[in-house]
Order: sequence, then C-alpha cells, then structure tokens
Amino acid sequence: MISEEEARRKILETIQPLPLRTVSLSSALDCFSGQDLIARLPMPGFDNSAMDGYAVVASACRKGERLRVIGEQPAGVDRGIRISPGEAARIFTGAPMPAGADAVVMQEDVTRDGDEIVLNVGVDTGEFIRRRGCDLGEGQKILSKGERIRAATLALLASQGFSDVTIGGEVNVAIVSTGDELVKPGARIKQGQIYESNSVLLRSLLQRCNATVRSVENCADDQHSLTEALKRGIRYHVLIISGGVSVGEHDIVKSTLLALGARIDIWRVAIKPGKPFLFGRVAIPIAPSPQSSPSGKGGREALGEGSAASRNDCFIFGLPGNPVSSFVTFLQFVRPAVLKMMSASDGELNPTKVTAESDIDLHNDGERAHYVRGRLKNGKFQPVGRQESHALFGLSQSNALLRLAPGESVEKGAAVEIQLWD
Ligand code: AMP
Ligand code: MG
Repeated sequence: MISEEEARRKILETIQPLPLRTVSLSSALDCFSGQDLIARLPMPGFDNSAMDGYAVVASACRKGERLRVIGEQPAGVDRGIRISPGEAARIFTGAPMPAGADAVVMQEDVTRDGDEIVLNVGVDTGEFIRRRGCDLGEGQKILSKGERIRAATLALLASQGFSDVTIGGEVNVAIVSTGDELVKPGARIKQGQIYESNSVLLRSLLQRCNATVRSVENCADDQHSLTEALKRGIRYHVLIISGGVSVGEHDIVKSTLLALGARIDIWRVAIKPGKPFLFGRVAIPIAPSPQSSPSGKGGREALGEGSAASRNDCFIFGLPGNPVSSFVTFLQFVRPAVLKMMSASDGELNPTKVTAESDIDLHNDGERAHYVRGRLKNGKFQPVGRQESHALFGLSQSNALLRLAPGESVEKGAAVEIQLWD
C-alpha cells in the first residue's frame, strides 16, 4: 500500500498531455488553452462614448449654457465630425468620439430645444468617455497555456477577433462496471441483486471534466466476459473499471489486466474510502508502439518500477465498487489525470478549496487519509450521512470533502480546508 500523495504523484508523472487541437470558440468552453494568447487589439479599440447623450468641449460647458447641435454620431460608423466650444454632437453608446470633443453629457442631463441643448449640469473633462486601451493593452497576455477557458474568456477571445482557439486533446473514455449482482436501472431486480449506479456516477463526473465517454458496459465477474470487455475498453485513452479490484475470489480485474499485457503501476492506496484503487496502462491495440508489450502476451506486475508511458498507452483506473469509494478515488486520482491529458496546468488539477469552520470534533485514528463527506453551509462544515463506503444517500446530501490525514484531529470551531465539487 502506498500513500495517497505518492499515488497521485506517480499517476501525474506517468500521464502526459494528448496532442493539441484547434476548435471553434463554440466548442472550447471548459477546455484548457494549448498556448499563451496575446491581445491583438487594444480594448476599447478607439475612444468612444459610454452613454447616449451629447459630445461636448468640457471647458465651454457650465450649467445653464446653450450649445448648438451640429451633427449626429451613431455607433458603427465614423462620420468624421469635428466640434468647437459652444457646439455639441448627438452621440450614442459605443460611438467614436468626434474630433475636438473631450466629454459626453448624458441626455438625461440636458433639455433639447430644436437644434440646441441647454445643459442642466456642469461637465468635467473626460466624463463618460471610454478611452482606447483602458481595459486591455495590445500585446498584453489574455490567456495562459493550461488555463481553463471560461465563458468570459471566450467572450474576450471573440472581442479580440479570434474565431478559434488551440486547446488540449479530447480524452476518450470507456467505463466497465463489473459485478454479478448488478442490474441495469429499469430492469426487474431479484433478491440479492442491486441496481448498477457507478457508471452513472462516473459518466457524470467525466462530463464535468469535459471528457468524452465513448463506451459504457456492465460485465459479469467471469474471466471470459471480463477479458472481452477490457479488450474493448483499452481501445480508448482511458479505461475506468468499477469493482472487482479488491482481494476476494470474485475480484478478477487485476489478474485479467495482467493477462492482457497491462502493466500495473499502483494497487492499493492509503485512502479511506478507496483502498483497493488500481492504476495501470497497456498499449492501445489499434496503434501499438514498438516499445510496448503487445496485448495478450502475458503481463508483468511492475509496482514501483519506473518506465515511461507511451503516447499510445491506454491508462487504466480500477476503482473500488462501493459507490463512495468510486467517487472519492475518481476525484483524487482520475480527475487530475484526465485534466492533465487535456493540457490543464498544474494549478487547474486541484479541486476548488475553501476555508470553513468545522461544526464538530473530528479525529482520524487510522493509517489512511480519510475523506469525510459533508455539507458546507454558511461557512461551516458538517459531516452528513453515514461515513461508510456504500452510503450513497449521505454522499448525495453532501457538497464538500474534508481530508483528515492519518492521526489528524480537528476541534469544533477550528478552521479547516474543504474540497468543493458541486
Ligand atoms: P467490489 O469492489 O466489486 O468488491 O464491490 C464492492 C461493493 O460495491 C459491493 O457491495 C458491490 O455490490 C458494490 N458495487 C460494485 N459495483 C457497483 C456498481 N457499479 N454500482 C453500484 N454498486 C456497486
Ligand atoms: Mg464486485
């Protein structure tokens, strides 16, 4: 058994980003930028009006003054108007400032009288003008390599004239749920059987990561079915197997993977829930790399040894079948790996963390890092539901995880760091 930190480090060292691709802005939400991007244009691109009103020369604008309106400057076209003291130009939001004007008075602050306006207020130089480049200068960095592309980032890219953007590769994932007891929701269930729920959980978590789930299968705990299901699953960048990775006679995932030529890098991690977690890799059969062992040749277990992963490897995550174990190990190990494949920067791999006040005394007297499921409300963290790995109802009521290191104690009222996922 290795520590959680060691497992995470090993996984992230092994996994490498997929080749970059260029997509239209409409397909890039929540993807990670493949490069640093620099502003092409200053923003705003020219001095323009922040209001519907009148462009004026401020020094000639005392309250009560009358100004002659000599023209109209709408947005979208520069009419080349020039004004002098005592004159005004009708202007609209976003319209370029006429030459000679150094302020805008909003229309609510004037009285229109035919070709003239009467000022109901005094005017200061620069009022209601949006200056060229005041928001963003040409050449300024607007997006860093590996940064997540948010809705506002996309709007900024569009405003800079970009129609597409280079992002990390698409990660294709297969899910195989194992267990003789599993029945698909919607079907009739017999005594002793349970409805299969992990694939729904994992698919949803993968969707949140923007990964593409290409295949979802349920598989019985028999060697033949499992071999065939895993052979289909290892055609993708990532194969996630639920269940069958523990130590019982029906837990045949590890031996089946080895028989398929997979290399097992990690098996069993000091994390609660989630101890039987497995991580390995195998050459993708359709495009085997010359160095990788061909599938079906008999595998070797290589815990602890270093060997570089190939671009053509399928990365395999075996998650314990208990739903909460699957959930916790997905968030701590699979999610950062998938994000790294998508070219996320190191800072983007971590879950959102906030500081909260613990609403209860907590202690971890075990040897494994314990992830306590709880609810963060009004700045306070309170565990919810049963803290056992099968307790899916409790998990469904929670929105945050508190990690207690082995031996760690937390007193009620103490400040704790909470991981948020919802
Ligand atoms: P395993 O890791 O295969 O030993 O399974 C551990 C526990 O998780 C057992 O109680 C299983 O019935 C349950 N379990 C396994 N796979 C799933 C699944 N896909 N959906 C819901 N529960 C599961
Ligand atoms: Mg099982």
